[in-house]
Amino acid sequence: RRTVLDVRGLSVDFHTPAGRLHAVQDVSFSVGAGETLAVLGESGSGKSVTAQAIMGILDTPPAEIVGGTVELGGQDLLTLPERQRRAATGSRVSLIFQDALTALNPVQPVAKQIGELYRLHRGASRKQAWRQAVEMMDRVRIPAAASRAGDYPHQFSGGMRQRILIAMALALDPEVVIADEPTTALDVTVQAQILDLLAEQQAERGLALVLITHDLGVASRMADRALVMYSGRVVEHGPIRRLFTAPIHPYSQGLVASIPRRSHRGGPLPAISGLPPSLTDRPAGCRFHPRCSIAREHCESVEPELLQLDDGRQTRCHFWTEVAS
Ligand code: SF4
Ligand code: MG
Repeated sequence: RRTVLDVRGLSVDFHTPAGRLHAVQDVSFSVGAGETLAVLGESGSGKSVTAQAIMGILDTPPAEIVGGTVELGGQDLLTLPERQRRAATGSRVSLIFQDALTALNPVQPVAKQIGELYRLHRGASRKQAWRQAVEMMDRVRIPAAASRAGDYPHQFSGGMRQRILIAMALALDPEVVIADEPTTALDVTVQAQILDLLAEQQAERGLALVLITHDLGVASRMADRALVMYSGRVVEHGPIRRLFTAPIHPYSQGLVASIPRRSHRGGPLPAISGLPPSLTDRPAGCRFHPRCSIAREHCESVEPELLQLDDGRQTRCHFWTEVAS
């Protein structure tokens, strides 16, 4: 697969009254055309900050990219002047948010909001922009698109609003789509429909899709590969099937074990106990050690490196062979 997005050593700091905090440290991954990478982790793991850094929309709290490269088709976005960068991330990379109600403007007809993209980036006239917006609404299967184009966001159901966001994300025919918990706010049936729509549009356009989620069910349905993040760092990276069948980090093992399985005999397995550390209060050594069932003294003082295994997978654990066996 042709690599579309290549992120190397991305690090983001937050400047806070308490000082400088490392929100994301040394994150690397690439995504190919037509490929889906799931970025997995609990809230506070750095998944959304990673997405925002790629999109150039980091803001709250005051955040700064302190290292790394974000290459799109071989060009580093981070070294581009602000204007060019905005143009690139506005058209070649796009983002689908979780909450369509806050992402959409409540006082503007939806076709106007979609059409705005064609006006801004393609110099379309009002009329052309409206027509193209209706085409996009049709494409994401909003029923009776032409007659609903003048409706406002609150006049649509949650699922239909999410389709409108997807229409906006796909409007300029991007190479990469980053979807941050795109279906979390929806009920299970609608969620499945939205995921199917995303998968279908991806296949049609050969999109590179980065799917940020805390939901392993969503990841297993959609992704080719998974990047598991914990406390600002990558802890496991590899094919999604391998993550489910043979995880190589105690954290991912815990995540996988906590999925309710119909086929599982003897009731649900215990989830990982405890909570992830806050940004201001990270443990020394391996950041997962307070929650790790196989932690030992070494883990409390020495932070593991991200190890590259022979099969191409990566894990950040001193004792990963014990997890794998
Ligand atoms: Fe657990 Fe130690 Fe591995 Fe961290 S390095 S995940 S504490 S075994
Ligand atoms: Mg988030």
